[in-house]
Amino acid sequence: MAARRLLLLGGTAEASAIARALAGDPAWAVTTSLAGRTSSPRRPPGELRVGGFGGPAGLAAALGAGGYDVLVDATHPFAARMRWHAAEAAAAVGVPRLRVERPGWAEGPGDRWRRVPDLAAAAGAVAAGPWAKVALTVGRTELAAFAAAGRPGRSWVVRSIEPPAEVPPGPVEVVLGRGPFDRAAERALLADHAVDLLVTKDSGGPDGKLAAARALGLDVLVVDRPPSPPGPLARDVAGALAWLAGLVGRSSGPGAQAAAR
Ligand code: NAP
Repeated sequence: MAARRLLLLGGTAEASAIARALAGDPAWAVTTSLAGRTSSPRRPPGELRVGGFGGPAGLAAALGAGGYDVLVDATHPFAARMRWHAAEAAAAVGVPRLRVERPGWAEGPGDRWRRVPDLAAAAGAVAAGPWAKVALTVGRTELAAFAAAGRPGRSWVVRSIEPPAEVPPGPVEVVLGRGPFDRAAERALLADHAVDLLVTKDSGGPDGKLAAARALGLDVLVVDRPPSPPGPLARDVAGALAWLAGLVGRSSGPGAQAAAR
């Protein structure tokens, strides 16, 4: 039987892991799609395309023109738009679609979290709060939200993969790095810069910075995730592979399940 053509919307560790897991599997021909936000992305195995599709209609056209059989949307938990485009495009061309989204973080004993619905609310809380050294790990393209959150005596630590174009007002130290970062490195970052507030999106995955903040007794603003369309959802790579295996009439082993919501 001919390989099924899978379009994998990526930009996450999970998408890369799915591409690696299916590399060499004769049942699947995988094309990973990246938005092109980072200049030197890690290249997954299989085919790669880079750049937007031009909205849901463009994605639907690409699905049709590429002869794709399946769409897996493994974009980041905070990639707010692409999941809706994926749902609309897949429905328009009648292609099965799976959303892959890792679980968010949960507050535990010793945490000093405040949840906020979005970055604007995070910026409002920072502006109104007492903190002198604020660490922002929200992505370099989202820093404009904090433009009005500066005040005398407040400085910032911004961590991002590439240098940000825009930074909040006041003294700013930019720390470049690509995660995951372990707890010791996160603790060193927060302690060495005398951070008293960490602002993070609820990205899920390795939680080194949250563990470090807990150990240091720091306040944390946790930005909630944007909403997702209904439909099949896998919480991890195993769940995604199980869902895909089901499409080709295979079992992928125990414990690998995609949940419907
Ligand atoms: P977004 O708001 O959901 O998408 C904005 C636009 O970028 C989409 O309308 C689409 O353009 C294009 N796009 C997004 N993901 C794409 C993909 N995988 N392949 C091709 N085009 C894509 O997403 P975003 O927040 O800008 O994130 C962009 C990418 O970075 C995503 O792939 C995501 O997985 C990754 N990422 C995001 C974050 C984050 O915090 N937002 C963190 C880590 C990684 P068209 O409408 O022209 O098709």
